[in-house]
Amino acid sequence: MAVPFRRTSKTRKNKRRTHYKLQVPGMVECPNCGEMKLAHRVCPSCGTYKGKEVVNK
Ligand SMILES: [Zn+2]
Repeated sequence: MAVPFRRTSKTRKNKRRTHYKLQVPGMVECPNCGEMKLAHRVCPSCGTYKGKEVVNK
């Protein structure tokens, strides 16, 4: 089995991890209320989708 020739330095490790995202991808800001919601889904806080389609509360 192959084994790493050198140990990964702190700098290299941290540089690699800059791509780690803080948030779940697919989250967008609701154009109606500004809350974060999942893309292509009805906003859970204001119940709208694509401008008007309102869900009863
Ligand atoms: Zn909303």
